[in-house]
Amino acid sequence: MNKRSIKNADVSGKKVLVRVDFNVPMRDGVISDDSRIRAVLPTLNFLKDGGAKVVICSHFGRPNGQVVEEMRLRPVRERLSELLGVSVADAGGPNSEHAAHVILSLSSGEFALLENLRFEFGEEKNEEDFSKQLASFADLYVNDAFGVAHRAHASTVGVTEYLPSYAGFLMERELEMLGRSLGRSGGATIAIVGGAKVADKIQVLRHVSEKVDTILVGGGMVAAFYVAQGLSGGAVVVSDEDVSAARELLDSDGANVVIPADVITAPEFNKNSLATVHDSSEVPEDEKILDIGPRSSQEYGRIISIADTIIWNGPMGVFEWPEFANGSISIANAVARNKKAVSVIGGGSTADLVGSLGLIDNFTHVSTGGGASLEFLEGKILPGVAALDEAVE
Ligand code: AMP
Repeated sequence: MNKRSIKNADVSGKKVLVRVDFNVPMRDGVISDDSRIRAVLPTLNFLKDGGAKVVICSHFGRPNGQVVEEMRLRPVRERLSELLGVSVADAGGPNSEHAAHVILSLSSGEFALLENLRFEFGEEKNEEDFSKQLASFADLYVNDAFGVAHRAHASTVGVTEYLPSYAGFLMERELEMLGRSLGRSGGATIAIVGGAKVADKIQVLRHVSEKVDTILVGGGMVAAFYVAQGLSGGAVVVSDEDVSAARELLDSDGANVVIPADVITAPEFNKNSLATVHDSSEVPEDEKILDIGPRSSQEYGRIISIADTIIWNGPMGVFEWPEFANGSISIANAVARNKKAVSVIGGGSTADLVGSLGLIDNFTHVSTGGGASLEFLEGKILPGVAALDEAVE
């Protein structure tokens, strides 16, 4: 990979600004899942062991340029201190005098955490002054925040104009694994694409169609694919645009697109609505498709079992409701069972799903970035990644 790796930087005695994604799920001030914090420990420990003075920065939530008390990073700093086994100093807001003072007094191997970057307007606007302010704290910059790599903000893009910049270990792994999942390994490559709407996934489908052998379709998109084949898509209104997009994919020379042979439908979009199995040719006009059916799960499972590379983005049905979760659970288990394959789970709801099933350790990689992995799979250039290539020497 051509991103400059932190492995190659001499960090001893240097002040290093590290952008991480500590936008962790939190309930009443308590972190309910600390995996985003754990995910950057290799980079932070590497910097500590290398004798750097480490200045960490992150956003949290959407405070829109205002200080919002519930969005302070204190709970994250406390959890991070526990995980690192050393106290992480509170540097306060990047524009405060306190920050400059705390950072100046850091010794090699010590950490400080700046307050939520999005308390400042300059962050999301990628303002020059704010980027310079962040850069003023350090000699080097490391981006380990894959989750915000699709955003051109001061701490992901602006700052790279002023500091030699490197990719952290998490950023490297995300790019390597997502890249490998679309990389034509030589074996059978498949993409499993689900989720709520065609509009959200059409770019992913188009892009992966050129990269993989087979696409297994699930989720709310199934209706458009059925209509494109002259079948009933059920009660959900499918736009002409979605139908033509589906037809274009079915007719294209790209990947073989597999649509479910049966589905689970219900009269209402409702947790307790009566679930029934229907063959693809017999979807009632007045019912909504809410999951793939058991035959489809079996067929998809067979295709998954012989794949060498698997990329999965988007659940097969409304997995939040038990009656409509079986398709997604069955696919998650099938991917987990294929131990010989490189299996990559796109972030967001698919990562939540495999996390809730306790299956995370069964995949080669589970992305920490929802929006970022989606844009990667759409074939877009991620500004935070491009900026590392173009950064000052
Ligand atoms: P995404 O984040 O785009 O992958 O979409 C995830 C969402 O898609 C989940 O919240 C699912 O409930 C929803 N979803 C999956 N299948 C369907 C379906 N058949 N109809 C409506 N929503 C669905």
